This record gives sequence, structure tokens and C-alpha cells, in this order.
Amino acid sequence: MNNALKNRVVLITGGGTGIGRATALRFAAEGAKIMVAGRRKEQLENTVELIKQSGGEADYFIADVSKWDDSKKMVEATVKKFGSLDTLVTCAGIVRRAEKIEETTEEQWDQQLNINLKGVYSTVHAGLPELIKSRHGVIISISSTAASFGIPGMATYSASKGGVSALIRSVALQYASDGIRANAISPGLINTEMAYIDRPEPHDKAISNIIEGYPIKRIGTPEDIANAALFLASDQSSWITGQDIFVDGGFSIK
Ligand code: NAD
Repeated sequence: MNNALKNRVVLITGGGTGIGRATALRFAAEGAKIMVAGRRKEQLENTVELIKQSGGEADYFIADVSKWDDSKKMVEATVKKFGSLDTLVTCAGIVRRAEKIEETTEEQWDQQLNINLKGVYSTVHAGLPELIKSRHGVIISISSTAASFGIPGMATYSASKGGVSALIRSVALQYASDGIRANAISPGLINTEMAYIDRPEPHDKAISNIIEGYPIKRIGTPEDIANAALFLASDQSSWITGQDIFVDGGFSIK
């Protein structure tokens, strides 16, 4: 693709690192104007710097997506900076592994659900009026294979991501007549900071044990997800909505 997103204004939550950053860079290379939002200034600044170094346009906004007011403000900042909002990519998320349900605290449940599920709802909630105005609004939410497959030790995370995939189907149906397409991407294991959280040491061994279970025997890269997101953001997918696309080296077909 070349200039597939020319002049599209894109807001990416969790855009300071990992999948969010890779998506920001990929979309910027296709001509999109990028606002990255998240909690950590330094990481967001680095993403913006990388985009500018490649001749793209970008800015950042500090926001905690679990707070409705922050989500509203990040959308306002995007429109103020670039004049509109065409595409939302929700990447912000956290994970807990090795979870024992009987030992999980209310705070841990709330934190996971507030960021992973309420955070997506609040972003969509804040962004919808602008996406409707755009007449070709796109929403892409990064869910997880954990939304569709049981993974021991990840009950709360799975519940939050199951909610994301379900939410996106509802949004797709309700707003199709407003020209909005909404899709989820369910990644398998991707090589970001998140892949290593709550893993037994040595990490290399833990990761290679997991990869053994994948038909395509490598860990995914943030760029694998960014490329799928680009397809869903571009007009090449103009008849695709409400889907949950697995980008997982074949994990989901076993
Ligand atoms: P990551 O940790 O690099 O990215 C998550 C980002 O979300 C970070 O930049 C973090 O600062 C941000 N964030 C966390 N809480 C936030 C909040 N309250 N408000 C705003 N930003 C917040 O990891 P990643 O792998 O790039 O994760 C991106 C998405 O992909 C997540 O939703 C994750 O659940 C999903 N995912 C990741 C994997 C994987 O193996 N890495 C697999 C499936 C799904």
C-alpha cells in the first residue's frame, strides 16, 4: 500500500509502546496524521519523534483511558490539533498472568476491567460523535486470542478481552448506517513488554515453550499486528465490519 491513509486523522491509545507504537509508525508512513495517547510521557514523545523523523505528522496527549474525562479530552485534543477524527485504534491495556481466582482482589479485578474494557468503551464513547461526522469512521480494537480461548491463569484478562470483542460487534451493527466500520484484532503472543509480564524466568525458555504450540513457530511482532490494522483502517477492507480477526501464527486453528 502507498498513501492508503492519506490525511486520515488517527487516535491511537497505548501508542507509546508495543503494538500501539508500531501501528502509529505504520499508519504515519501511509500518510495518516497521528495522535498517540497514554499515561507515559517519555514513551509517547519517542513515538512522536520517530514519526517526525520519517517526515510524518504526529502529536501526543497524556490520558488514562479508564477515566471518561481523559478520553473526552484526548479526542478534543486530536480534533483541535488536526481538525477531525477518522480512525480510532484502542491498544491501551494491561495483563495479569498466573492469576489464582480465589486470591484475586477486588482492586485487581477493577483495575484490569477498568483499563481493558471500560477504557475501550470510554474511548469509543468519546470518539463516536467525531467518527460519525467523518462519514468514514473506523474503529479498531486490539482484543486477544484470550477472548476466545481458555487460558489458565488469565481469567480476568480473558473476561476483559471477551468484553472488547463483544462490544465491537455491537458498535459495528449500531453504527454501520453512520458509515462506521468497527473491527477487533485478536493477536497471539506478540513480542512487546507485555509478553514478559508474570512469566517464570528464564523468559527465553518460557516464550519458546509457548511458541512450540504455534503452527508458525515464531513469536509475533508488533508490525504483524500493525499490518493487519492497516488493512482494517484502509478502504481495502470497506466491506468488513464487526469481525474479530485472529493474527496469531495459526494458534486459533488448532
Ligand atoms: P504494551 O504494554 O507495550 O502496550 C500497552 C500500552 O497501554 C502501554 O503503552 C501502556 O502504557 C498503555 N496503557 C496501560 N494502561 C493505560 C491506561 N489506563 N491509559 C492509557 N494507556 C494505558 O503491550 P502491547 O503488547 O503493545 O499491548 C497492546 C494491546 O495488545 C493490549 O491491549 C494487549 O492486551 C493486547 N495484546 C497483546 C498481546 C501480547 O502478547 N503482547 C497479545 C494479545 C493482545
